[in-house]
Amino acid sequence: MRVQFLGTGASPSTPQPFCECEACITARSAGGKNLRRRSSLIVNNDLLIDLGPDVVSSSFEHGVSLVGITHCLQTHPHGDHFDPELLISRHPEWGTRLAGPLSLAGSQATLNALDDLCRQRCGHGSLFDSRAQHDLKLELTAVAPFDSCMIGSYVVTPYPANHAAEFDALLYTVTDGASSLFYATDTSVIADSVWRHMSERGVQLDVVILDHTYGIGFESSDHLGADDFARSVRTLKQLDILKQGGKVYATHLSHEGIMEHDAMEEFASRNEYHIAYDGLVVRV
Ligand SMILES: [Zn+2]
Ligand SMILES: [Zn+2]
Ligand SMILES: [Zn+2]
Repeated sequence: MRVQFLGTGASPSTPQPFCECEACITARSAGGKNLRRRSSLIVNNDLLIDLGPDVVSSSFEHGVSLVGITHCLQTHPHGDHFDPELLISRHPEWGTRLAGPLSLAGSQATLNALDDLCRQRCGHGSLFDSRAQHDLKLELTAVAPFDSCMIGSYVVTPYPANHAAEFDALLYTVTDGASSLFYATDTSVIADSVWRHMSERGVQLDVVILDHTYGIGFESSDHLGADDFARSVRTLKQLDILKQGGKVYATHLSHEGIMEHDAMEEFASRNEYHIAYDGLVVRV
């Protein structure tokens, strides 16, 4: 499995555009790994997690083609995770020649919200109508927490996020038979029932990607802070969910309590995890 981060920032991007805090000033001057687009992830070359507002610009920068994306898992419909324009531009009116259909999966509440956003933007009809689905070459799949399903060639298990309850926001494990990934943003402290479910089923994860919106000295709110992040890493190890040699990465980093990337990575490695950055490729 090849996993590439297309974005590792929180909703306003990191550094924040109008912010003069120390973290943002440092990030701007250091550049490189400190410049974070809105979070999304590509698995192999056919599965995208979150059709976010920066996936296109990030794909340009990192030389990644999105043409082969056949499946998309949507965590929730917040603006830093979904850009309706990207879906709407599949319509023939835009002169688009599509490589093939796109299957988009999310909770029913998330799919409803994506539909609302698209209908506010264009007159192509509801995403649930067969005409619009035909024109957009789009299939919608509603998935539910703890209910494993096949998404393309992957076994996907959705888990409840502790975030955006009105949209039944989801976290996902993705398994290709040989390797397994857990993508867990946006979320606050993950429910014990999630870890228990994984532990009881003998889930063995190669890569865990967790929300780290807030850094050192900041509490979790609807996202994770550093202390709860480190606690999650310990839980993964105690319950033997993380495979021997498996790696944990932090994503969705905002500016509160965040240091320059290399310093932050040093802090993270002392707590047995790593800080992801835009373009990072992980192979398992
Ligand atoms: Zn977010
Ligand atoms: Zn700032
Ligand atoms: Zn969110």
